[in-house]
Amino acid sequence: MTATVIDGKAFAADLRARVAGLVPAFAAATGRVPGLAVVLVGEDPASAVYVKSKGRMTKEAGMAGFEHRLPAETTQADLLALVDTLNADGAVDGILVQLPLPRHIDEAAVIARIAPAKDVDGFTPENAGRLAAGLPALVPCTPLGCLMLLKDRLGDLTGLDAVVIGRSNIVGKPMAQLLLGESCTVTIAHSRTRDLPAVVRRADIVVAAVGRPRMVPGDWLKPGATVIDVGINRIEAGDGKTRLVGDVDYDSAVETAAAITPVPGGVGPMTIAVLLRNTLVAAHRRAGVPLADASL
Ligand code: NAD
Repeated sequence: MTATVIDGKAFAADLRARVAGLVPAFAAATGRVPGLAVVLVGEDPASAVYVKSKGRMTKEAGMAGFEHRLPAETTQADLLALVDTLNADGAVDGILVQLPLPRHIDEAAVIARIAPAKDVDGFTPENAGRLAAGLPALVPCTPLGCLMLLKDRLGDLTGLDAVVIGRSNIVGKPMAQLLLGESCTVTIAHSRTRDLPAVVRRADIVVAAVGRPRMVPGDWLKPGATVIDVGINRIEAGDGKTRLVGDVDYDSAVETAAAITPVPGGVGPMTIAVLLRNTLVAAHRRAGVPLADASL
């Protein structure tokens, strides 16, 4: 058996187009377009690349993008003051502070300062708590993108065994909450889990969010499992070049799984598409305007 490849790139392009299609109705109702503010502190090259593509795709979706690039030596007080300004700015519906922040800044304090209604990354304690309580929330983009791919592939997830490998606040934990919300039987595995292969082998759905190249081999998988590979790891490819691989060993997993996301081109493109979706949703909620497409 060879697995179906889940085309996250195409799904993300379609989602961005659906979001863009809903912007004119919002503009007609409110007299303005949704706005996303992105804050980048310092010169981390990977972050700079993400911020650039976020800016481009925001404009392509017909939304307003506000970019704030601050030097690495920015103080925590100055960053908090900028967040306060953005919280109060009526043209800003979504605020994203690009992580990681320089070491002298307390990330948790900065995230907690973002107004929950504008927290399009879904990282504030308020939104994390609302997700856990099953209340309407802004949900972290990467796990929500994973859930969209899973539902598109499998339809109703009720009763399926799901194993999430990784327990970070930005991927693993919210992913587990989302799957629980879909009535899966959810196991969260992590660095201290005993006999990880046996845990993974019982899963109908495996979400790998670890950050270790090709850690999950195909023979850990239950035949017919659906595999969502969140990992993005750069490895040496010989002759001085590098390439990206996931947390799952794609070549062996593809022989056992029923469906799998590739790296790159699987989960990666979903994150920005869901960010735009979250910004549109946040804009509608703030303006008190119902979203025309409830399925979004
Ligand atoms: P993290 O480092 O915060 O968390 C990693 C988790 O993996 C931890 O909870 C840890 O307990 C677990 N872990 C570590 N070693 C393990 C082991 N041997 N066995 C089982 N579990 C183990 O990472 P993160 O921010 O959650 O990101 C995970 C991966 O996903 C990274 O490769 C990251 O680049 C990628 N990522 C991709 C996107 C995207 O596609 N847009 C977004 C976020 C993160």
